[in-house]
Order: sequence, then C-alpha cells, then structure tokens
Amino acid sequence: MKTAFAQIRLTNLQHNLELLKRAAPTSKIIAICKANGYGHGLVAVAKALHKADALGVARIQEAVSLRDAGIVQPIMLLEGCFDADELQLASNIDVEVVVHHTHQLTMLQQTQLTHPVKVWLKLDTGMYRLGIDHTQFNDCYQALSQCHNVRGSVHIMSHLSCADELGNQYTDSQLQQFEQITQPYDAPKSLANSAAVLAHPNTHFDWVRPGLSLYGISPLPTGTHISQQLKPVMTLHSRLISVKPAKAGALVGYGGAGQLQQDSTLGVIAIGYGDGYPRNAPNGTPVLINGRIVPSIGKVSMDMLTVDLGTNSQDQIGDKVTLWGEGLPVEQVANHIGTIPWELVCRLTQRLALVYN
Ligand SMILES: *Cc1c(COP(=O)(O)O)cnc(C)c1O
Repeated sequence: MKTAFAQIRLTNLQHNLELLKRAAPTSKIIAICKANGYGHGLVAVAKALHKADALGVARIQEAVSLRDAGIVQPIMLLEGCFDADELQLASNIDVEVVVHHTHQLTMLQQTQLTHPVKVWLKLDTGMYRLGIDHTQFNDCYQALSQCHNVRGSVHIMSHLSCADELGNQYTDSQLQQFEQITQPYDAPKSLANSAAVLAHPNTHFDWVRPGLSLYGISPLPTGTHISQQLKPVMTLHSRLISVKPAKAGALVGYGGAGQLQQDSTLGVIAIGYGDGYPRNAPNGTPVLINGRIVPSIGKVSMDMLTVDLGTNSQDQIGDKVTLWGEGLPVEQVANHIGTIPWELVCRLTQRLALVYN
C-alpha cells in the first residue's frame, strides 16, 4: 500500500485536449509538456496526447526523452537552442526551434547542420522576457528565410504576459502589436497560452499553445463555460499515519507554530516538503479527508503534515487523504498558499510515485 502518491488520470488529459480543440476549432494545438509534463510524467503525458498536433518543451533534453520514447509528433523547443551542440542535436532528432535572439540567428547561420530545422521566430510584444524587438523583426525574418539551415517557411510567435487577468488591457495591446507587426508576413502564427485559449478567442491564430489547462487546471480567477468542464488530471494523495487527541493550547510541530484553540484531534499525514508539498503552506491550508475539508496546523515537515481533525473526528490511521485534485482544486490550495497551481504540480519530487490509470 502506497502512502503518498499522485494519481494521474490520462483519460481526463484526453478529455481536456478535446475541450481545448473545441475552444479553438480553427487552430492546431501544440500541447505544452515542459517540466516533466507539468509534473504529470513527460512520456506518459506525451503518449496520451497522440491527438495533439505537436508537443512543446523547454529544454532539448526533454525533446530527447520524447524521441527516445518513440514519440514521432512535431516537437517545438520553446526557448530554442543555447549553443551549437544543442542546435545540431535538435536537427538530428528533428525538433523545431524557437529563435528569440539574434545570438540564435547567428548560430543558425554559422553552423553546418546535417538536416535543416523548422524555425519559429519569436517577437517580443511587451513581455520583455524572450523575443526579438519589433525594430529588428523584419531583418531577422528575412535572414532566417534565406538561411540554408532553415526548413520551410519561418513561423511566427509571441507570448502574452497578462492573459490570465480578465479585463487587463495589456493583452489587447500585445495582440494589437502582434497583428500590426506580423500582418505583412504570410506565415503560420501562434500567440495563445491556456488563458488566451479560454478567454481571448481573437488571439488563437494558426497554432495555440495550452499547457496548464490540458492538465485540468484553470489559469483564470473565475470560470468560463469551457474552463468549468476541465477535469483535473492529478490528484495528490497520502494517508493518516497518526490520529490522537490533544488539548487546547497545544503547540503543534516545529517551532510550535500552530496552536490548538480548543480540545481536538490531531491527524498526521505522510506527506511533506520532501515530496514537494510546499513548506510555506500556512496554518489553515485545506486538506480533504473523508469527505470534508480540514485545516492544516503547524509547520510542514519533510515527511509529514499535521491537520486539525476536529472534536468529532471518526478518522482512522490508514485513511486516504487528498491534498489537491479531485474534490479539492489545486487552484484553491495554491491560492491559500500564495503561489500558483503551475508551481504546485511541477515541484513534486522524485520520491513521490506517479500512479496512472
Ligand atoms: C509554458 C508556455 C505555454 C503554456 O502556458 P500555460 O499558461 O501553462 O498554458 C505557452 N507558451 C510558452 C512560450 C510557454 O513557455
């Protein structure tokens, strides 16, 4: 019997992919599976996503893992190549590379690749992270179009910084900039992440790039028609390994950081920051046990988390607990902890087993 594990429902992943296809019916989908498939297991996730038009990863090693596992779909390398060795590797395993900097353009021009690669030219439309400035865009586009190492037409992309904040005008300004600068080019285009797929249909263009929403998690603060039909793919479970009464005033855990306000029952769950459950989860973080939400109490330890089960607890050692997922959305837990669901799902550690069905 496993204590701590993450249940991964790949059928829910496929359900979410179908929903997103319906949300962006005229676009192709690049399913983003960087960071170990957002913590859900890179290869298992990729295999379940065989109906996605392409897969997106951040590092060349992730692309190598996918090819080694026999994945044949197009793979997009979101940050492109860091050096010439990576570029040669990308060419060898047929990976599409992003060019976000003139450094990468120079590399493409100066390397002798075995096979030409498909290229996505990334424009910075105001996120100020990766991307070519609009003043250099045309020069880069023309140079890539003429580069012997580039296969087919140059594709164009950008990234939105505020798409998950509904009503934020910045998205409109980024979209406007993207349309204005890329309008002259007859090239496939891509702009939308999950939030934009769900909430900004005018950003869809030819290819959409959902990540978080595929895993059944909504990036939006309030639900949309489609976000409400997403099904969580990961449910994080563990079990109670201790249940015992404690008196009002008890100082729970390291540093006595949680204090019982009244006589109660304390339950200890076998999960901690050694599994990736965040140590900074404050008192009162919700945990689902036997059909009800109970609050955490005290500091999270490496292997354990304590909860206040209440005065009328019928809970037993061995009872299964849900930290997030089905019955307790990870969005809600992240909100309580003061982080984002992206971080919670992708920070699980090696020790934690992923169980598929
Ligand atoms: C991670 C990433 C995405 C996916 O973002 P979500 O918010 O998880 O949907 C899309 N595009 C790029 C460039 C990314 O790095």
